Amino acid sequence: MCLSRSTRSRKWAITKKFVRTASRMKRRRRRRRRRERFPDSDDEGSHNPDIGPWSYAACAMDHVLYTADHYVLTPYVYPASWPEDEALRQIISLWVVTTMGAELLYLGFAALNFYAVFDHKLMKHPQFIKNQVRQEIQLGVTSIFWMSFPTVALFFWEIKGHSKLYDHISESSLGWAGVILSIAGFLFFTDMCIYWIHRWMHHKLIYKYLHKQHHIFKIPTPFASHAFHPLDGFLQSLPYHVYPFIFPLHKVVYLSLFVFVNFWTISIHDGDYRIPGPLICLINGAAHHVDHHLHFIYNYGQYFTLWDRLGGSYRHPSALLGDGSHDHVRKLMAEAAKTK
Ligand SMILES: [Zn+2]
Ligand SMILES: [Zn+2]
Repeated sequence: MCLSRSTRSRKWAITKKFVRTASRMKRRRRRRRRRERFPDSDDEGSHNPDIGPWSYAACAMDHVLYTADHYVLTPYVYPASWPEDEALRQIISLWVVTTMGAELLYLGFAALNFYAVFDHKLMKHPQFIKNQVRQEIQLGVTSIFWMSFPTVALFFWEIKGHSKLYDHISESSLGWAGVILSIAGFLFFTDMCIYWIHRWMHHKLIYKYLHKQHHIFKIPTPFASHAFHPLDGFLQSLPYHVYPFIFPLHKVVYLSLFVFVNFWTISIHDGDYRIPGPLICLINGAAHHVDHHLHFIYNYGQYFTLWDRLGGSYRHPSALLGDGSHDHVRKLMAEAAKTK
């Protein structure tokens, strides 16, 4: 059917008007529901500390939850009659968002890294175990599932306003300088805490019960990054959650650091041992971490080599001395070619 230009534009105008009216009515319904529940509130009330369901506290998760709750969970999952500020509803929403977010982040970034960065020749290394990738994924996915329970308890504590997270740069006493300092502080604090927690995990009374599961993988792939006993994984992630309860941190910075930390953890398991020359002594990269998997008592650090140097556990990466896993595989392949 061929419509004239004026008919088409008239139909388009009617459609746009209909969509505008529908969204206006939806906003009115939402305001009315809010006024019924919070009679003293002004309009949306989303930033009034006393009235907004996700806003009465400083929590980085509130932005994510507000979006998930308003556009996905209501009304498709929860009945409209269930108040948004009900504790059980908040905990369920937090759990769904945290678990799904963390699993997707892990599987997405690790898969990307596995296919784009990881050298598949490493799978020919004699210490690369049978069905390793499947085992890593199974352990990683299971660990994230169980870890999400105590993690959600901490996020809920944040939502209740007990953290020092803030919304606007103006709330930082040093402005942008304060934000940059908080990033440096976060990296320093978490690197220090993870070093000592990780070192403690290697204590002979604890190692076999918790941390050994991660060390099954001597030549890790990016999927080994989250393959821990759930309690081990949670304890090593604890410094990230504790930091905003002690120090002020911008919410968006906190969420960005959460993504960065996951990405970094994957990257130190990706078998790409290249590090720019001047940074070799400062940064704890994949070359350092694979030596930890192989030799156990060296390079416990997360981002930097500082605490390994102070704690006497630093080892210069074998891969950078021509004695790494790649060299080993190359030698084996050359020998196999000679004997053919
Ligand atoms: Zn370890
Ligand atoms: Zn590892």
